Amino acid sequence: GDRVVVDPNLECGSCPACKKGWAHLCETLGAYGVTCDGGFAEYSLVQASQVHSIGDMPYEIAALAEPLGCVLNGLHAAQAHRAGSALIFGAGPIGLLMAIGLQVSGLTNISLVDLDRTRLSLAESFGFKAIEAHSDELNSLRQNVDLVADATGVPAVATKLIDYIANGGVGLFFGVCPSEARIEISPFELFRRQITLAGSHSLNHNIPEAIEGLKAYGTDIGRLVSHRLSLADINQVFEGYGPKESLKIQFCR
Ligand SMILES: [Zn+2]
Repeated sequence: GDRVVVDPNLECGSCPACKKGWAHLCETLGAYGVTCDGGFAEYSLVQASQVHSIGDMPYEIAALAEPLGCVLNGLHAAQAHRAGSALIFGAGPIGLLMAIGLQVSGLTNISLVDLDRTRLSLAESFGFKAIEAHSDELNSLRQNVDLVADATGVPAVATKLIDYIANGGVGLFFGVCPSEARIEISPFELFRRQITLAGSHSLNHNIPEAIEGLKAYGTDIGRLVSHRLSLADINQVFEGYGPKESLKIQFCR
């Protein structure tokens, strides 16, 4: 048969959000692996409408189409095509995917911030500027970057995003903060510096462009996958006994 990836989102197609083209905000959004059985199995049954051909792309690369699709949905929400510079907090797999998504769309001035030196080295190895958290270098970027994104989900980081956004720029809240977290912002600052704050949730039919992005970037993106484990190991990993230093972990037959 064909080699494919699955778009996990299952929207109703008829609620107000779906009618606006916002499938990812469907009132009754379901997803393979969330509201019904997913891909951690030797075989999965999915609707034909949810699969996308990957040609001869290796499976471990193609499996990044879903997270990259989420990143692309976020970058669209943040109108990233307008940005001349980007600063991403969090140099984990998602922060790096975001940087790669921006690079594939033509942006060259991309920096990632992290506390972890190993992750900063990884960001550098992908050709991005790597900046240590709390450094003078980071401080020099205050009010200086067109697109500033949080890919940590840490409220203390999210609350600092606005400090780095240039006048007329955008802040993207991409990392998933705890639902009860609150941050302080100055409405006056948003007004005076004409700042836009964007959020994004899941993906909205972004798999085809994600596949194109993966093709455009090439197989080096596979370095975001630190472990390929057997399905037999899955319970151990989900119980917290997985590899200590990891990026993306994949389970294979
Ligand atoms: Zn709907």
